[in-house]
Amino acid sequence: MILILGGTTEASALAGLLAARPGWRVLLSLAGRTGSPLPQPVPVRVGGFGGGPGLAAFLKNAGIDTVVDATHPFATGISQNAIAACRQAGVPLLLVCRPAWRPGPEDRWTEVPDAVQAALALGGERRTVFLTVGRLELPAFLAAPQHRYVVRTIDPPDRLPPDAELILARGPFAEADEHRLMQSGGIEVLVAKNAGGAATAGKLAAARMLGLPVVLIRRPAGPKLARDQPMVETPAAALAWLIERHAGAQPRGV
Ligand code: NAP
Repeated sequence: MILILGGTTEASALAGLLAARPGWRVLLSLAGRTGSPLPQPVPVRVGGFGGGPGLAAFLKNAGIDTVVDATHPFATGISQNAIAACRQAGVPLLLVCRPAWRPGPEDRWTEVPDAVQAALALGGERRTVFLTVGRLELPAFLAAPQHRYVVRTIDPPDRLPPDAELILARGPFAEADEHRLMQSGGIEVLVAKNAGGAATAGKLAAARMLGLPVVLIRRPAGPKLARDQPMVETPAAALAWLIERHAGAQPRGV
């Protein structure tokens, strides 16, 4: 059985590709961060494993013969655990990681290492900020209450900065809609993580069109940047890797 570590569009897309092919047993694992996860095309388990040793035990007990780490580029802990657990259990591991966004000549990006530096990079003067860093990164912006924020998250955050308007929405977001939102909201600066991928790239294109600056949080150092394991960028490439790997030897549990 294949275990997909998910929580991303790539993980769900790969699950869909595998579900459409007879003979593959697949389990998708979610951390359980989102209150209303989307329906998935394969069986799902939810919640942490209890670190690397917990994941190693899970692999053994559940009869997992391949792990695909398709977690978010900013999720480092689970990827580290997957490397350790797969090594311990002797199970092959594939990383699926979409490429980072790169600035073009018309982009006005300030790249920063984390959310604390992103809040500092907004400066002391009051600005209207489109904040798209996710619910869990919001506390860093409580330290910069001089700004007016338009905050977009999937689930409601525990706390917002004092002058904030909340938009609850889940991507993908079209460029035209992002353009409209940023223009009508009087946005002066966009703050985002360098997540990569097409689903949320529209805000960067809209910022470029509007000539707006962007504060972009760089990808964290860790196993996904080290790339010292088999890695592909797309669900289709992951499927090809799995088919090649299992050619002649059907995956266990079929
Ligand atoms: P993280 O720091 O790497 O993981 C923290 C802990 O959460 C892990 O040690 C593990 O707990 C559990 N976990 C994470 N992903 C899991 C999965 N797919 N299945 C089961 N347990 C998982 O990750 P994070 O940054 O908090 O992100 C959590 C999840 O949200 C990830 O699955 C990621 O794909 C998704 N996500 C993250 C972001 C982001 O910006 N960080 C954005 C979109 C989606 P145990 O040690 O107990 O096993």
